[in-house]
Order: sequence, then structure tokens, then C-alpha cells
Amino acid sequence: MSYEASPSNLKQAMFVGHTAIALAAKTRTPRVSLGWLVAAAFGLDLLWPIFLLAGIEQVSIVPGATAFNPLVFDSYPWSHSLLMACVWGLCAAGVARWIGTSNGVAGLIGAVLVSHWILDWVSHVPDLPLWPGQ
Ligand SMILES: [Zn+2]
Repeated sequence: MSYEASPSNLKQAMFVGHTAIALAAKTRTPRVSLGWLVAAAFGLDLLWPIFLLAGIEQVSIVPGATAFNPLVFDSYPWSHSLLMACVWGLCAAGVARWIGTSNGVAGLIGAVLVSHWILDWVSHVPDLPLWPGQ
């Protein structure tokens, strides 16, 4: 059996990558729930449907748009731009700090959240904005 690179395999690899980041962070922060680390790793994808339902971000359904799904991301700068990923990472770190984690753990949680943008940037079609309004 051989492994063939395809858009579907790339998307699966991206999900594995987000999960791998959470698992790697867990080895560094054994007292933090893996659930919170997974939530941080997928954080931008958790924000996206909320912004979509609120009408802040837009998507079109175009059958056959990609091999993985029929979604064309028309606009998603508030959940998936690099600038906002950093803002959301700072917010996550701030919440972690507020509930009593150390600065190091809070920083790691923020970095895990920002890592989502990097992995999406590698695996998406080139549609990820750097900042809102770009
Ligand atoms: Zn994403």
C-alpha cells in the first residue's frame, strides 16, 4: 500500500496536525486538560461557525469546489486571519492566566491557538488573509 498525496489526505493530515499540536502541548503541561488544549488547537475553527451564523463571515457552497468539501470561503478574516489568530491567541492566554495558570502555560495555550493558522496556511488553498480588510 502506498500513500498518495491528495487534497483529502492533506485535509486529514491538517486535522491530525492540529491534534498533534494539542498532544505535544499536553506533554509540556500535564496538569492542563487535553480537552482545553484540543479546543485551543481547533480554536479558529470553533470561532468560524459562530461568525458565519452571525453573518460576520461568509462562505459559498459550490459542489466540486475542492476534493474535500464544497465550501468556498468567501470571507473569514475575523476567525482565520493571521492578525486575528494572534489576537485570539492572546485572548486565550489571558483567560488561561485569569483562571490561574502560570505565564508559561498561558503562553503555550496561546501559541497552540496561533499554530492553527500556520497549519491552515500550509494546507489551505491560498485564501487565508493576514488581517481583516485585506
Ligand atoms: Zn481552520
